[in-house]
Amino acid sequence: MNHNKENNSLSGNCLPTELTVLGSTGSIGTQTLDVARMHGYGIKALSAHSNFRLAEEQAREFHPQTVCMTDETAYKELKARLADTDIKVIYGKDSLCETAALSCDMVINAVVGMVGLEPTLAALGAKNRVGLANKETLVTGGELVKAAEKANNVDIVPIDSEHSAIFQSLMGNRGNKIEKIILTASGGPFFGYNKEQLKSVTREQALHHPNWNMGRKITTDSATLMNKGLELIEAVRLFDVMPEQVEVVVHRQSILHSAVEYEDGAVIGQLGVPDMKIPIQFAVTYPKRLLSCSKKLSLFDVGTMTFERADEETFVCLAEARKAIAKGGTAPTVLNGANEAAVALFLDGKIPFYRIGELVSECCASVPYSEKVTLAAISESDAAAREYVMKNK
Ligand code: NDP
Ligand code: MG
Repeated sequence: MNHNKENNSLSGNCLPTELTVLGSTGSIGTQTLDVARMHGYGIKALSAHSNFRLAEEQAREFHPQTVCMTDETAYKELKARLADTDIKVIYGKDSLCETAALSCDMVINAVVGMVGLEPTLAALGAKNRVGLANKETLVTGGELVKAAEKANNVDIVPIDSEHSAIFQSLMGNRGNKIEKIILTASGGPFFGYNKEQLKSVTREQALHHPNWNMGRKITTDSATLMNKGLELIEAVRLFDVMPEQVEVVVHRQSILHSAVEYEDGAVIGQLGVPDMKIPIQFAVTYPKRLLSCSKKLSLFDVGTMTFERADEETFVCLAEARKAIAKGGTAPTVLNGANEAAVALFLDGKIPFYRIGELVSECCASVPYSEKVTLAAISESDAAAREYVMKNK
């Protein structure tokens, strides 16, 4: 059912779009629903993990066919709360894949962590276009995802702001060789700190990002620069370039969201205010552009844009990500699994900030990886990395 399709459209130019939003209660998920509300898109299905209160509000507003909860207690609560409606409430990891496979115009994958991999594959298998925010999907199972995209002849459109910028910079350049991808990074809250200074930073400081308001896991990843490491791997997978072709550039203002350099020396980039609704909306409307409620960029207000190198000796996660993609196989899964486990410990107050990078480095040096990338090998490498971190924290 389409939600307020006529009344709510600002653009007056609605595409007939019905979305499924996985991770609808998170930062990207709620902003996706803001875009859907503005343009009057229908919502086929939603998924959330623990936040049954927000999931109930969203279900009552958008009236999806199905809501999938991946936490059992939250599922039972939501099922009881929605008993007066005809909305189907389902539970579990397989159900998340079933939800992703329901026929719709686009599945927005905005769950956090590598738990998003199988739903991405399920969506592609059902020939649903995918708007991909969940970067861990490409880090762990990039080869499988790209193969599924090709086999099913269906698009993946990136939502991560840098990859959306690269995607946009590639438009109209099919067949032209990419010389280099310029992947911009805000540098996070601790840019310029040395190793000693990182020893005393607090969780509150780490969770205060200078430019973006995001979920806790990606905000922590931005502070360690692991986010840029994951994004480097994401770029290699999405755009089929060599890791050496991706240059990380710290750009504190987050206005240039990334760029592509071509053989002739032309550099084409995408600029805009730091607002995820812009890449989210573009993923849905691509190749069209519609009116959005985001602020417009004033270069006079920005004034100065700066570009610097990242300090990979201090922010070891970025260096580890480079090593992992160079090794190939499931090495990026080991990196990602170690990071997911270490970040969860940090967010629970069990380890200090600087231990995240140390644990990731130690784990990548110790845990073997498989050359072959299959779902079973990914799952094994992920489990081994998490186990290493829990034992050595
Ligand atoms: P949030 O933490 O804000 O939201 C995560 C979503 O995933 C929530 O809906 C949450 O449910 C759900 N979830 C949590 N754990 C599980 C699980 N085990 N199984 C299934 N679903 C789960 O994250 P963000 O929105 O910030 O990020 C989502 C993804 O998008 C990440 O991969 C991130 O790297 C990427 N991304 C985010 C950006 C941003 O600006 N936020 C920018 C670029 C990429 P509940 O809340 O109900 O527990
Ligand atoms: Mg990003």
